[in-house]
Amino acid sequence: EQLSNDFQFIDVGRQDPRKKEAHLRVQEFGEIYEEYRPRDAASQAHRCLHCGNPYCEWKCPVHNYIPNWLKLVTEGNILEAAELSHRTNSLPEVCGRVCPQDRLCEGDCTLNDGFGAVTIGSIEKYITDTAFAMGWRPDMTGVEWTDKRVAVIGAGPAGLGCADVLVRNGVKPVVYDRYPEIGGLLTFGIPEFKLEKHVMQRRRKVFEEMGVEFRLGVNIGTDVAITELMSEFDAVFMGMGTYKYMEGGFPGEQLDGVYKALDYLIGNVNHNLGFASADFDFVSLEGKRVVVLGGGDTAMDCNRTALRQGAEEVTCVYRRDEANMPGSRREVKNAREEGVEFLFNRQPIAVVGEEGRVEGIKVVRTRMGDPDENGRQRAEVVPDSEEIIECEAVVVAFGFQPHEVDWYSDHRVEIDDRGRVLAPEKGDMEMKRFAYQTSNEKIFAGGDMVRGSDLVVTAVFEGRQAAEGILDYLQV
Ligand code: FAD
Ligand code: SF4
Repeated sequence: EQLSNDFQFIDVGRQDPRKKEAHLRVQEFGEIYEEYRPRDAASQAHRCLHCGNPYCEWKCPVHNYIPNWLKLVTEGNILEAAELSHRTNSLPEVCGRVCPQDRLCEGDCTLNDGFGAVTIGSIEKYITDTAFAMGWRPDMTGVEWTDKRVAVIGAGPAGLGCADVLVRNGVKPVVYDRYPEIGGLLTFGIPEFKLEKHVMQRRRKVFEEMGVEFRLGVNIGTDVAITELMSEFDAVFMGMGTYKYMEGGFPGEQLDGVYKALDYLIGNVNHNLGFASADFDFVSLEGKRVVVLGGGDTAMDCNRTALRQGAEEVTCVYRRDEANMPGSRREVKNAREEGVEFLFNRQPIAVVGEEGRVEGIKVVRTRMGDPDENGRQRAEVVPDSEEIIECEAVVVAFGFQPHEVDWYSDHRVEIDDRGRVLAPEKGDMEMKRFAYQTSNEKIFAGGDMVRGSDLVVTAVFEGRQAAEGILDYLQV
């Protein structure tokens, strides 16, 4: 009876899935949101107005058929919803968990006008998790196999998006990654409280059943030469991410007790998963006063990891104000609930300490100025406003830039002045140029290494689009 009501959005408010209480969730690393019960998922999905021109769909980087799968959930038709959601997205259960929905699909939902957006992300996650639990697997019965094989370098969201589209079109993807598990930053970066690791392990099995081959623990460039891939395969896709750590560039950054964000996070994930790695030390910040520098998703993940390790206090220092933070609003709210203190409009100028140990961080105040080229207001330093925040550990989370790859020039792969690989999103059939093709016709690229550090969903999209380019190039 309730589900036949067209004005459901008035009678039923937005209801996120239940969240564990903050004091309990900081004691463990598990995901903080519970799954919807079927009735709640159906009732929340039924709030959708089915707008003639769905803004959510336009805003979603992979252009999911959102209102259509919401309708299927309303009707209890989960398996069809899963099939439909996989037509546009290779990792819907991941995007449902980690997309910053408030600035993507849900940000453009018509119901934001006072009623509260439809909980699109949580329902997307619910569809795939439920379908998998019911034994659903992508339908590969209509696939006609070709004799083409493509090497994919990187098992992050870009590489996986590419492999998904290739295999569904009968082209064999062989995915190489230097790490022992697939996922890229989804496994070795994003912490469990946003995305539990069994989600990627389950996804690996599903991809393998579909015909994707993974060769893990293989570094292309050292273990296997790129020239080998170029001769063995019909095309190569690169989804190798951006791994050059951005330094603060202030005095004291070399002191003991100053940590690089990603190294810190990966060390912690490896510790939790029991992976041995000589490259990433496990650092425990238990009992320490910790300052995390930065205001994006990485900073938020470091804040919340430190709290879970038992840090005495965690302060997040950001040079702009809250309105100009780049990451997900939801995760800032979660961090605050868990006990992270925020100090906005503070710019670090030095780490202070004696005998090699951190004792504090010196900051100056800032005020917001004119917008920069990305539309975010610049932070202008207020003269004579220095202060010291006492702490025993500093985590620097200023983001990442493309890292250098020494075989680009030998293989005619061009990069721009910021080190990003040039792989234009649009092809030109007449010129025999294909989507996401690099300056080497046999090599395609997508994700962070092409657009700069961005989002999971944009990497998935570019991997999928590049696969379409590869199919055109291979004429299959
Ligand atoms: P990656 O995920 O970096 O994957 C690249 C893969 O290539 C890696 O597995 C790497 O091992 C492999 N590789 C590289 N070179 C080689 C080589 N030579 N040989 C073999 N393998 C190689 N985005 C969101 O949307 N939501 C979030 O909440 C979010 N949180 C984040 C938190 C953190 C801490 C970080 C660092 C990023 C976060 N992001 C988030 C951003 C998101 O994770 C990235 O934009 C996305 O993972 C990029 O995908 P990718 O496939 O391009 O690269
Ligand atoms: Fe929203 Fe991301 Fe899902 Fe698109 S992929 S519908 S933006 S949660």
